[in-house]
Amino acid sequence: MTDFRERAVALDVADPLALWRHQFVIEPDVVAYLDGNSLGRLPLRTRERLTAFIRDEWGGRLIRGWSQGWADLPTQVGDEFGELVGAAPGQGVVGDSTTICIAKALHAAADLRPGRDELVVSADDFPTDRYIAEAVAREKSLTVRHVETTVDGTLDLEAVLGERTAVVLLSHVDYRTGTLQDLTAVTRQVHDAGAVMVWDLCHSLGVVPMDLDAAGVDLAVGCTYKYLNAGPGAPAYLYAAARHLPDLRQPLPGWWSASDLFAMADEYEPANDARRLLSGTPNVAGLLAVREGVAIAAEAGIEAARAKSTQLTSYCIDALDELVADGASLELVTPRDAARRGSQVTVRVPDARGVTADLIDGGVVPDFREPDLLRLGLAPLTTSFAELHEGLVVLQQVLRR
Ligand SMILES: *Cc1c(COP(=O)(O)O)cnc(C)c1O
Repeated sequence: MTDFRERAVALDVADPLALWRHQFVIEPDVVAYLDGNSLGRLPLRTRERLTAFIRDEWGGRLIRGWSQGWADLPTQVGDEFGELVGAAPGQGVVGDSTTICIAKALHAAADLRPGRDELVVSADDFPTDRYIAEAVAREKSLTVRHVETTVDGTLDLEAVLGERTAVVLLSHVDYRTGTLQDLTAVTRQVHDAGAVMVWDLCHSLGVVPMDLDAAGVDLAVGCTYKYLNAGPGAPAYLYAAARHLPDLRQPLPGWWSASDLFAMADEYEPANDARRLLSGTPNVAGLLAVREGVAIAAEAGIEAARAKSTQLTSYCIDALDELVADGASLELVTPRDAARRGSQVTVRVPDARGVTADLIDGGVVPDFREPDLLRLGLAPLTTSFAELHEGLVVLQQVLRR
């Protein structure tokens, strides 16, 4: 691993994003934080923004805050995502959790295809996505069809798409393997079958460039506390294409999705704009943290983030290959082709749970996924090559034991 040390130093010196790391809280007791894909690090400016919010706005303005800016945050912050996801204003909101947003998106999507009765999901998707899909299918009398992954890691959509397909829900980046789907090509394939495409962007938001409008995506949901660093439980991003909004029906209509929030009308009349996607009072502190996270990602530049992310995953894969050559029993699960992976590297390891515990004892924070996967999340704005190198050295020591 000695040449890897030199390579890490050279990569850090040449890294145009290297200074961003100093804009975040770096935990003194951690050798390497390789879990930015589960919970991103805390940006210094978010800490300041939330402190000021608590002191001056919540503390100083109380209820007046709603008419002095808070009420507009869900749509404003939704619009601020535009640059990261390729969405024109007026199509996104931030307010509810990822799970709730997936439920809303699937209900709305199913209603767009009344004559069809199948909902397609990946059998390997994140539990919340599968559970919600099953629940929505039960309520809407749809049948869940599972799309299988072929040997080369692509999804065999051909086998499941047809005249009965109403909705397809897929993750842009697979949370376990890190496999990146071709958002544009898959959306086209789903549309060719006459179905509605719902993307889960949890593991790509902030690290993979995308163009939701140009790709013709119908609905999308993304988590903000992973690569966008908005903090535990921060509200999620929900996108609905402008062409669907005027007729879109969602299952949790509340006063925040009504045409006039403060009219307290007897009859529910949905808003004509993206506010129709909301339900109840959003978490203002969470929204402010999302705003900072999105601004940081936009300032650093999504293309630059992707370029560094690719370098980080490539470096990591090369180093893991070296460990294997050295006798370690690891099997790479993430695609070797950089164009086909997100910002994580996953390996299959015997006793992955024990290895994870030993890594944590050694100051390295990775992520363990049942039953035998060790996931190394590499966040381009906060992971340095030197940090990754140190983490891999500890992994080497743990595996030798
Ligand atoms: C992180 C993640 C979630 C989390 O949903 P919450 O409602 O925030 O708990 C859901 N789906 C995927 C694919 C995720 O990666």
